[in-house]
Amino acid sequence: MQNAAHYYNGTFENDLGDNFGRIVNPSTEKMLGYFPCGLPSLIDRTVINARNVFEQSWKFVLCKERLGYLERLVGLIEEHRDEFANVISLEMGSPLEFSKSSQVGTALNHLRTTIRAANQPFDMHNSTVSLEGRIRFEPLGVAGIITPWNWPLNQVILKVAAAIAAGCTIVHKPSEMTALSSTFLARLIHESGLPAGVYNCIHGSGSQTGAALANHTELSVVSFTGSTNAGRKIAIAAAGNLIPSVMELGGKSPNLLFEDCDVFLAVKQGVAHAFRNAGQSCNAASRMLVGRQIYDDSIMAAKLEAAAFLPGDPLDRDTTLGPVISKTQFDRVQNLIQSGIDDGARLVCGGLGMPDGISEGYFVRPTIFADVTPAMRIWQEEIFGPVLTMTAFNNPDHAIELANNTAYGLSAYIQTADRRQAEIVSRQLDVGMVQVNGTSRAAGAPFGGVKHSGYGREGGLWGIRGFQSVKSISGVGVPPS
Ligand code: NAD
Repeated sequence: MQNAAHYYNGTFENDLGDNFGRIVNPSTEKMLGYFPCGLPSLIDRTVINARNVFEQSWKFVLCKERLGYLERLVGLIEEHRDEFANVISLEMGSPLEFSKSSQVGTALNHLRTTIRAANQPFDMHNSTVSLEGRIRFEPLGVAGIITPWNWPLNQVILKVAAAIAAGCTIVHKPSEMTALSSTFLARLIHESGLPAGVYNCIHGSGSQTGAALANHTELSVVSFTGSTNAGRKIAIAAAGNLIPSVMELGGKSPNLLFEDCDVFLAVKQGVAHAFRNAGQSCNAASRMLVGRQIYDDSIMAAKLEAAAFLPGDPLDRDTTLGPVISKTQFDRVQNLIQSGIDDGARLVCGGLGMPDGISEGYFVRPTIFADVTPAMRIWQEEIFGPVLTMTAFNNPDHAIELANNTAYGLSAYIQTADRRQAEIVSRQLDVGMVQVNGTSRAAGAPFGGVKHSGYGREGGLWGIRGFQSVKSISGVGVPPS
């Protein structure tokens, strides 16, 4: 048993106090430990302290020194990579190899990219106005950061590294489901020597601790990753305080397979993208839209691919499919699978219940539905489980119409041998990101969405700008070197 601890003004509070919650291993349903629930009064003290630290010292610290702490953090995460991956796998159930390579690996990549992006002047000539004009990017102040459980290191690093590089102090409310991962990170941040009060981590529920943070009048900016429902409340709170917000919310991303694509490769990659992390990624390619002439072949290929996913103990090397995060999430996914059946979608594989041979944990059968239409719940709602929907399209216009037919607009994927077609289609998709033929986004490329997937961008310089304001200066000459 291990407990999570608040990290406040450079010290860990190991006493759980009177209010605490349980952290459960989703593969065994057994308790891993407790997390303390931060009361609004603790949030208040922490934000005020972070404000004082910002005004009295942190805002005068040079960028080079700030990046030094982040560089030390890179080394510390690398050094503890295996332990960190182990905590993530125990706490949220992703297979250990995936936790090492992707959960921790992606976070390290983002951390390095943020450091590189910040290695450029934040004070520069505004040559579009005149040689005398300057613009300076300055830290906004105290950043409120609220994060989810599905990528419990990566989603935190994206924000925390950007905020430190930008020059803000931070009050972070991590997901209560992955409080141990956040405590692990806080210990490494502490070891990096970052001055007391610059980064603070307060645990607790969204409705109490998270809401107290989002509504605090001393925040300068709030950056949120999580569900669209919670994001709406947090955005309203930020608007009430007239502070900027960044919203990285849910998704229901379409994967368009045109008839000239490499069908088997596209299906293989598409199924993997939908089921990776047990389908619990905001940008999961959860709706496969397929040209009618290759539809039947694609369904057959997808069924074979799904059968190759091996559910089991995340710590076992062979496991490729972990559980979903909680009993609540398991029930929700079951309910959506039932709705797919009731609404008349064709069940290709998987379905209700747990995978064969598994009797404990929140494991969902890898499930594929074909002939899914926009009228169905499984088309419109983010399922956040290993469930893929498939639908045929007649021509490119039909594909685009189907792709855009949800409230979300995070990511889209296109598979075609025709680059011109990919270009034309990509312009018409209402999303923040388009990936063609499996090509990954470049390091530092902006990550984020439109419509109910939110606003603002993360990654590299885009992420840093979310924690800065821009000041226009004239009449004092060139910026200091
Ligand atoms: P969630 O919205 O339930 O919780 C996210 C965080 O917000 C948690 O820390 C939670 O305690 C807190 N919270 C909840 N209600 C709150 C409130 N009223 N006020 C303040 N804080 C509150 O989401 P989740 O289940 O943890 O994560 C899954 C969701 O996150 C999915 O919808 C997924 O698509 C989304 N997500 C988006 C991105 C992206 O970059 N767009 C990345 C990862 C996850």
